Amino acid sequence: MIVTPAGFVPLFVHEAHAAPLTFVYRGPQLLLRGPDRALPGVAVLASLALPEDRVLPVGRFHETYVRAAWVDAGTQPPPGHEFVGLRSLFGRVDDDTLALAGRAFQVAEWARTHRYCGVCGKPMHKAAGERAMRCECGHTNYPRIAPAMMVLVKRGPAILLARNAAVAPGGRMSALAGFLDPGESVEDAVHREVMEEVGLTVKDLRYFGSQSWPFPGSLMIAFTAEYAGGEIRCDPVEIAEARFFGPGDKLPELPPAQSISRALIDANLPRG
Ligand SMILES: [Zn+2]
Repeated sequence: MIVTPAGFVPLFVHEAHAAPLTFVYRGPQLLLRGPDRALPGVAVLASLALPEDRVLPVGRFHETYVRAAWVDAGTQPPPGHEFVGLRSLFGRVDDDTLALAGRAFQVAEWARTHRYCGVCGKPMHKAAGERAMRCECGHTNYPRIAPAMMVLVKRGPAILLARNAAVAPGGRMSALAGFLDPGESVEDAVHREVMEEVGLTVKDLRYFGSQSWPFPGSLMIAFTAEYAGGEIRCDPVEIAEARFFGPGDKLPELPPAQSISRALIDANLPRG
């Protein structure tokens, strides 16, 4: 599972560094050198002529300065380089780099989408001393992080896996998940989503862990819960199929190893 590596410290101001790690995004796609998937070097970055307000500090990883930048949708990659979707790099780039890339993407995407004030429409500027964009009218935007709960429902040794309606029959199944509603506690969201998605009640929630999931800015907060009552009744809009898998049952395709959903399932595999 991808987590921010030890040795990383967030930064809100630029640092001088001869060879910073620079994650350049065109929308959700990261600029990489073709054959070896290395980040762009100093000369390539210079050729992009990035405006100062499109380059943002992300942090320091050991002794190396890490920053994020974004370019317009029509920007062509420099010779020998390409723009690549982050998900397609799972297992092809080391997980530490993916974790830094995810953090950088969230910073770049936030800056790209908060250039103008949502209250008065004027240009916003980076605030001093914190990761925020501020308008002269007083309105301030912080990076948008959307909390979401994930829950693996257990019934004895069996675990509940569901297939999202957007996934083809026979495709990947996972734990239940959903975004929090404003005003809701994460525990409230677990009970609500389990009822909405599969019609069950649960009890004995246990915190498992959390993971930043930069597609585009979720914080996944994962639990296990014990089945308490009800018969499975899938929400026809969101869930195509849901059932308990017990010991000896052949498991379906599971989420990628980089995700907390997979870690949650792997830690609770049905054992007879
Ligand atoms: Zn304003």
